[in-house]
Amino acid sequence: MKYVDEYRDKEAAEYFRDAIHKVVTRPWTLMEVCGGQTHAIVKFGIDELLPKEVELVHGPGCPVCVTPLELIDKAIMIASRPDVIFCSFGDMLRVPGSDKDLLMVKSAGGDVRIVYSPLDAVKIAQENPEKEVVFFAVGFETTAPANAMAVHQAKELGVQNFSILVSHVLVPPAIEAVMSSPQCRVQAFLAAGHVCTVMGYTEYIPLAEKYKVPIVVTGFEPLDILQGIYMTVKQLEEGRHEVENQYVRSVRAYGNRPAQNLVSRVFKVVPRKWRGIGEIAESGLGLTDEYAAYDAETKFDVGDIHVDEPADCISGLVLQGIKKPNECPVFGTKCTPEHPFGATMVSNEGACAAYYRYRRHAAATGAGGQQ
Ligand code: SF4
Repeated sequence: MKYVDEYRDKEAAEYFRDAIHKVVTRPWTLMEVCGGQTHAIVKFGIDELLPKEVELVHGPGCPVCVTPLELIDKAIMIASRPDVIFCSFGDMLRVPGSDKDLLMVKSAGGDVRIVYSPLDAVKIAQENPEKEVVFFAVGFETTAPANAMAVHQAKELGVQNFSILVSHVLVPPAIEAVMSSPQCRVQAFLAAGHVCTVMGYTEYIPLAEKYKVPIVVTGFEPLDILQGIYMTVKQLEEGRHEVENQYVRSVRAYGNRPAQNLVSRVFKVVPRKWRGIGEIAESGLGLTDEYAAYDAETKFDVGDIHVDEPADCISGLVLQGIKKPNECPVFGTKCTPEHPFGATMVSNEGACAAYYRYRRHAAATGAGGQQ
């Protein structure tokens, strides 16, 4: 496939594999921030190509996984109302809330619809003026521009029966939270290329300096990830801690300025709770006063719901790179993609789901796979 096969070339992969083996002299722990990278690493066995000195741990960059339980419960409460059409990307429908998921609301007669763009939800609102249409706005900086555009367009068009349930989170505060943990053993980061395509990478420079960690903006194909690992390990071996850009075909230092301008008009930085991790200061987005009328939490009065996470699920430790999925006592038994116990088993980009899909037999026999 053009523009994909080039980044999966065997000889080029072997070149980077050998380069990493040559440059490494001691143990290093790297965290890939994004769930898309985690999925690619496990799917293509990239960690199994690495020298034993280089360990990859999986970060909190799957937006479905970090959406807190109480927000899923709020979505379920709103979607259960007979006057609501609840719109979402498909990956949120099976995320378990306290008692059920959105798919169960749909099967019980709720009007829950999968859409492919938040703008589709605005259109549905225009076509159904007697209903309230709510879009579940989940994601990192990557999806914020499209969600901001939907709210902005609804306002411009005078569509008042549209709102969004916001669960936007930001990468830099998550890196800060990982590095601040007393259990942290991460020494370098592969930052998420698509987030940096929107935001650029200048905001990572103070983090690299503060925590003395290399941060390499990295893409999602096997060659991107291998090259990102090589650049990161080379920095570590040379005692450098800089922000470098592997994903030059997409990322510029200052990102997409028009998208950033729209996001900062519609959203403001707020504290956000992360599933399994807890609240992180200034780690998310909420609607600005200008667009407050489009906030579903306020419109449906569900702002004050607080729910505790299930005690058995260690996804918080998985999302901080402290544990691997197959170290969870219920991995592959009580918790499977068919019956997910925690959010990291639900999403395709969740580390637990990736390990279950590609590594569960090795985990069961103790063979293969980096632990
Ligand atoms: S295997 Fe299931 S219960 Fe264990 S950490 Fe992953 S999502 Fe949570």
